[in-house]
Amino acid sequence: MQNIKFADVKLCSMISKIIDEDLIQQAKEEILNANKVVIVSHVSPDGDAIGSSLALCQFLTNMEKEVTVIMPNAFPDFLKWMPGADQILVYAEKKAQSEAAIANADLIFALDFNVLHRIGEMGTYVADSKARKVMVDHHLEPGGFADVIISYPSMPSTSEMIFRLICRMGYFTDLTKECAECIYTGMMTDTGSFTYNSNNPELYIIISELIKKGINKDDIHSKVYNNYSADRFRLMGHLLSENMKVYPEIGTALLTLSSAELKKYNFRKGDTEGFVNIPLSIKGIIFTAFIKEDVGMVKISLRSHGSFPTNEFSAEVFGGGGHLNASGAESYVSLAETVKKFEDALPKYKERLIEEMNKSK
Ligand code: 5GP
Ligand code: MN
Repeated sequence: MQNIKFADVKLCSMISKIIDEDLIQQAKEEILNANKVVIVSHVSPDGDAIGSSLALCQFLTNMEKEVTVIMPNAFPDFLKWMPGADQILVYAEKKAQSEAAIANADLIFALDFNVLHRIGEMGTYVADSKARKVMVDHHLEPGGFADVIISYPSMPSTSEMIFRLICRMGYFTDLTKECAECIYTGMMTDTGSFTYNSNNPELYIIISELIKKGINKDDIHSKVYNNYSADRFRLMGHLLSENMKVYPEIGTALLTLSSAELKKYNFRKGDTEGFVNIPLSIKGIIFTAFIKEDVGMVKISLRSHGSFPTNEFSAEVFGGGGHLNASGAESYVSLAETVKKFEDALPKYKERLIEEMNKSK
């Protein structure tokens, strides 16, 4: 796998060298020097967390590395079809095994998160491990816990970064169909099926290459998005008819769900996926929040159209973070108090919300 092939050179000439050459060489050296590799990603793993992790896992396994993928907690059923998903260790369910793998690793890849608290309790074990650490991520303000930090917040997904990394290291020819399926899934889910952060023409060059590797993109879309339970849609019906508050004068909408409501509709992980985006389809709505009771905390998801900075709102109001148009936070007061905090913060953002709302007309 060491010789650079013509196909790699050709592909690299079609996509720009966004990732710094030094970082590519450093990551390659870390890989070549390692045998036991652990790949970790963030709490409540999404399509990009799982996609980037499994893609890298496929690639490193083909390089004959001993690879363990560990997620802090369970991931939704609609990602379970992905190649290698059945091998993922869930830390919350297998703590001793996960901690041993982290402690014994030569190399840890930290994918799709910027700071160690995003991987929960597992973060201390990663910090304490003697393993070398490589971060590949697209969130703002990367923390300094890794030896090699490949952080490009302008990238729409970590999965795309994994594609770029593999190609630039000279292994495009070796990229398998299974690896391509994982990369495509992450690229698709982190761009809302190519409806936001998706105007870079190179995205479509990459998709074209993934299709040439044998993926069926229509099938992947169907596996991810046509895989829900009837309960999810009953819950969605309830949410939209009973619990959607619209503030039309500031282009904002709020969705809430209590744990009693979730229980009533037999909530399972993944059932509320995408709910936060729904009000963005309402004419004039440019900012949405979804506030949901979770185990031991209240989870906040924020989304926006245009340049309204949800991550700034999230950080200032709830101590959270994320991207401009998609961010989140955790709250440790009641659902009602969290909602009050959200509503009390709106007047401060009124002018910016109105400005963005007017732009969208
Ligand atoms: P989601 O709403 O899908 O849970 O999260 C959207 C984005 O917000 C994530 O990709 C992540 O960047 C960020 N995010 C979500 N939850 C948190 C959190 O509790 N803290 C921080 N700092 N960022 C979060
Ligand atoms: Mn991501």
